[in-house]
Amino acid sequence: MEKLMTTIDSHTILYGVFGDPIRHSRSPIMLNRAFQEAGINAVYAAFHVRPDELGDAVRGIRALGYRGINVTIPHKVEVMQYLDEIDEGARIVGAVNTIVNEAGKLIGYNTDGIGYVRSLKEETGIELKGKSVLLLGAGGAARGVAYALAKEGAGRIYIANRTKERALELADTISSYTEAIGLGMDELGHVVDEVQFVLNTTSAGMHPHVEELPLPLELLRSHHLVSDLIYNPRITRFLREAEARGARIHGGLGMFIYQGAFAFEYWTGTPAPVAAMRQVVEQSLAE
Ligand code: NAP
Repeated sequence: MEKLMTTIDSHTILYGVFGDPIRHSRSPIMLNRAFQEAGINAVYAAFHVRPDELGDAVRGIRALGYRGINVTIPHKVEVMQYLDEIDEGARIVGAVNTIVNEAGKLIGYNTDGIGYVRSLKEETGIELKGKSVLLLGAGGAARGVAYALAKEGAGRIYIANRTKERALELADTISSYTEAIGLGMDELGHVVDEVQFVLNTTSAGMHPHVEELPLPLELLRSHHLVSDLIYNPRITRFLREAEARGARIHGGLGMFIYQGAFAFEYWTGTPAPVAAMRQVVEQSLAE
């Protein structure tokens, strides 16, 4: 790969990601590649921030003049109390993954859900307007994705979760934006024939539990588009089994790329060099 050289000097603009743990994160290689590709004098680092240090770390963004910070597990909810302003989408989702420092004012956004939808549309060409969706899971990722699907015009969203109360609670939030119905996992028989699109937002199937499935396989249909937020492994067992049953499939790597692409665009006002970002992450995952 051709490497463009960036000199870090006294004009270099500072970015980073806060998480605990953080050393597994692929955000630094992805965003540094993006800055290089776009010819922007910037650097992006990974910060291991423990929960009791989060407030100090956020004050450090202002004190040191960082332009932008990504926030990952376990800080996406807790960080909100330290910010000056929260974008409407992030407020409804209840989590922030991107902070923009506007001359000392820290504004929180959530790019996970919109990143997912952008990946889904670009990689599958699906038109979501009026579609019925079965969304499996009701955790943090499900909240962002359900909100983004509703805003995109999905006609009806069934939300099914192992812990049914969480599905009902999320459906209640989303019902301000589209028809949303919370269900337990034993109530899906009548739903699977109606929906066009099945989406796993649970962690069932994620490394190292790669054999776990979020849905009994007999409920998959060949007319489904089946999507999974997990990108480790790149193609989960759930997607493999769906493809074997004739369904179209869509994996989670694009969501990771596009949540970073939106953050890059909020920070720089420049279109993100998505192809280069994808290439460097794919290469890193293959190593
Ligand atoms: P989370 O808040 O902890 O939620 C986990 C969800 O998975 C809950 O609905 C939970 O159900 C369900 N669940 C966990 N284990 C399960 C099992 N064995 N069987 C059935 N359901 C199970 O986690 P999250 O942050 O939403 O992340 C969820 C997944 O999305 C992870 O695999 C993560 O890697 C992926 N993700 C991907 C991206 C990306 O960029 N591609 C971004 C964010 C997240 P209960 O409520 O019953 O516990």
